[in-house]
Amino acid sequence: MKALLLEGDGVLNLREIEDPIPDNRSILVTVEATGIGGSEYLSFKNTGIRPLPNIMGHGISGVTPDGQRVSIYPLSSCGKCPYCLEGQEQLCDNWSLIGVQSNGGFAQKVSVPHHQLFKIPNDLSWAQSVFIEPFANSVNAWEQSCAHKDSKVCVIGGGSLGLGLVACANTSGNEVTDVLEKSVSRQAAALRL
Ligand SMILES: [Zn+2]
Repeated sequence: MKALLLEGDGVLNLREIEDPIPDNRSILVTVEATGIGGSEYLSFKNTGIRPLPNIMGHGISGVTPDGQRVSIYPLSSCGKCPYCLEGQEQLCDNWSLIGVQSNGGFAQKVSVPHHQLFKIPNDLSWAQSVFIEPFANSVNAWEQSCAHKDSKVCVIGGGSLGLGLVACANTSGNEVTDVLEKSVSRQAAALRL
C-alpha cells in the first residue's frame, strides 16, 4: 500500500510498504479520508513521542472488508487496569492512540480493533466524516457543561473544538454571547456559525 511516513522532524515521504496484518481482535480498514489536526501539524515539526517511522492520522473514516462505512475511535485501552474496569477507558494507564503509538490513517489501509469501529450513514460525505472525532470532543464538553435551556454561552477559544461547541449551543437553542478568540479568521468562522 501507499503510506505517508513521518521519518524525522519535518521529514514526510510517500512510500510503498506492506499492508498491515490485523491481529485476531482487529480488521483491515480501507481508508477513504483522514483529518489533519493540531497533533499532526505539531508532530510534523517535532516528532516527540512517536516511534519512527510513523504513519500519522487518527481522525479516520473508511470501509471494512464487507463494505460497511465506518469512523474510527482511535484511543485503544488495555481493558484490565482500574480505570478500564470502571468503564473510564479514556483514563487507561496503558492507553495508546492509532496514528501516534501505532500506525494511522495517512495510508491506504489501517488495522483497527473491532470495538473501535462505528458505522456511519451513507449521506455523510467522507470530508464531513473526518470531523466526527474532533466534534465528539465538543459534544462531550457541551454535555459536561450542564448548560440548561436558558443558559447563555461564552466559548473560550475558536478552534475546531470551540467552533463545535458553538454548533452544539446553536443546535440546543442556546444564545452564544461571546467567542473569545484572537485569530481573525476563527472569529469570522464563529460569526458565520
Ligand atoms: Zn486500561
